[in-house]
Amino acid sequence: MKKIISVILALTMVFSVLTVGASAAAVKTECGGNCDICPAIVVPGIGQSNVWALDENGDYLLDDDGERMSCFPAIFDIGYIIKRALFPILLTLLTQSDAGLSAALSDVILDSFAVNMCDDNGKNTGNIEVEKYPYSVAECSEYEKEQIYDAVPLQAYAEQAGEDHLYFFTYNSFGNHLDAVNELYDFIQMVKKDTGHEKVNIVPISMGGSIANGLLEYHPDVMDDLNKVVYIVPALDGSTIVGDLLAKDLTFLDKDFLFNGFLETLMDEDEARMIEVIARIIPDEVLLKALNAAVDTLVDDVAVNITSLWALSPSAYYPKLAKELLSDPSKAEIKRQTEMYYHAQLNSDKNIQTLIDKGVQVFNIVDYDVPLYCIGNTWNGDNADGVIHLDSTSMGVKSAKVGEALPEDYVQANTNCSNPEHNHISPDRVVDASTGLLPDTTFYFDGQNHEKTARNDIIISLATTLLATDDIKDVYSSPDYPQFNGARDPRHIRNTLIPAAKEADTSALSAADAAEFEAALAEAEAFVNGTVCYAGQEEEIEARLNAALVKAGVYTAEEEEEPSDFFEKLSLWLYEIYGTNGFIEMPAITVNLIAKGFFTLLNEYIFAPLNDIL
Ligand SMILES: [Zn+2]
Ligand SMILES: [Zn+2]
Repeated sequence: MKKIISVILALTMVFSVLTVGASAAAVKTECGGNCDICPAIVVPGIGQSNVWALDENGDYLLDDDGERMSCFPAIFDIGYIIKRALFPILLTLLTQSDAGLSAALSDVILDSFAVNMCDDNGKNTGNIEVEKYPYSVAECSEYEKEQIYDAVPLQAYAEQAGEDHLYFFTYNSFGNHLDAVNELYDFIQMVKKDTGHEKVNIVPISMGGSIANGLLEYHPDVMDDLNKVVYIVPALDGSTIVGDLLAKDLTFLDKDFLFNGFLETLMDEDEARMIEVIARIIPDEVLLKALNAAVDTLVDDVAVNITSLWALSPSAYYPKLAKELLSDPSKAEIKRQTEMYYHAQLNSDKNIQTLIDKGVQVFNIVDYDVPLYCIGNTWNGDNADGVIHLDSTSMGVKSAKVGEALPEDYVQANTNCSNPEHNHISPDRVVDASTGLLPDTTFYFDGQNHEKTARNDIIISLATTLLATDDIKDVYSSPDYPQFNGARDPRHIRNTLIPAAKEADTSALSAADAAEFEAALAEAEAFVNGTVCYAGQEEEIEARLNAALVKAGVYTAEEEEEPSDFFEKLSLWLYEIYGTNGFIEMPAITVNLIAKGFFTLLNEYIFAPLNDIL
């Protein structure tokens, strides 16, 4: 008996040693999970995960240059587009009626987005591969590191915390939202196991905010796995651009705006005006019909089954949109999943509050005072960062619209801040941060464009400090990171102008000019090395140093090109006289007049100069 017991004991010991050995070997970090820095998981924004198109054998589809084909935002096959659309376009021009133009446009959209289509269960039907990194950056290949650091330049964080404390979660921006949420939950468990840390930090960026909403709602136990959440421009309540798209409430479907103003919001005015003039080669109603058909196809046949896109629509839109788009019994599963997320959106603030009550530190970094892309009719409903309206990213802050300020008699509302000594009104009087859910841990960047957020080195260094240290508890912790800061991307000043100035020979400058040169250089260096700025400061610093470099003869002054306003005048004149009508619809006599006008212009700009030359 004794012998048996001792054998069992021995075996138990062997096994326990083995288990300990096995789990110790599984931990991949140098710290073994015993350091002060929790591993960080980046949950990136829309289009920041590589998704590749595959052929029927599962091999990568390659383009003409031998490069893999990215599915985001679509795959435009120029050969197919020409083949499908050329004849209908010519016929439409010839007959001045919709001779297959709408149908061709719809087919082109279906073909281009085919790879991103989802079925009635919300699952991708395209042959695709999401590029995943189920290991820390330390284990990533050089190529993978490049992808990650290019999306979010967190090299400084990796240097402080170690690359084995940095992870990059990827997902399909046009895929199944619930799957992405569940994968993030599993990813967090994997990171805990691999690093030996009991808790992780997560960094939901932009669309990643919608994944985080789902995570907290569907997996509330994950709250115990989290140490800090650092939101960066999170789409916590979608973007009205996506809501308006699903509602087909779009600016360019208004013909007056289409022919006078819409394109100017997207491109250079002269180019925009030229397109407005050219667009008149077909009647306005034909063009509008084609655009409406394109939007119908995009929404009814492509977007409707992409639950990740639904998760980017604001909650206020959901009841009406679900009724319009998901009433059919075939959409029952899409409706079930999107309704789940609708509740996650409604509970977003409550779930974040629960996180905080459980001791998780939650920070938020947002941009403001950049108008939304003028695509949805709600574009000027709220302040914004160009892509997401401020109410969504800021957890409900009250603000003035872009270009405006809060009323002069406006008093800080203190909805969520009880400390009377705190001033949460932005210096430009646009934002009352006391009205957002997290007044004391939300950082605002004035004039910062959403898409260039990762190029703002202050935002990156703030995120690094939040993730790698415990130095910052709130917006009052450090004068280096105040609540209100500004937009910038100082790479040109840092990498080009300052090195050029340091090498410049200034011996020929007058004493006053030399002093100005030194002052401009010193100011630029202080600027790039600092972490506080205001919107527009970068342009001032750049102009001053540039001027000094020109004076020193390092650069030559750039000649300003006189902008041409020919098409602007023509387009506005056409609009005034003929509204949105196509050329064919203009009365014959005035067409004659235009022809004469054109001839005069031709004469003035081409024949006469030619004559002079010849
Ligand atoms: Zn560690
Ligand atoms: Zn406060």
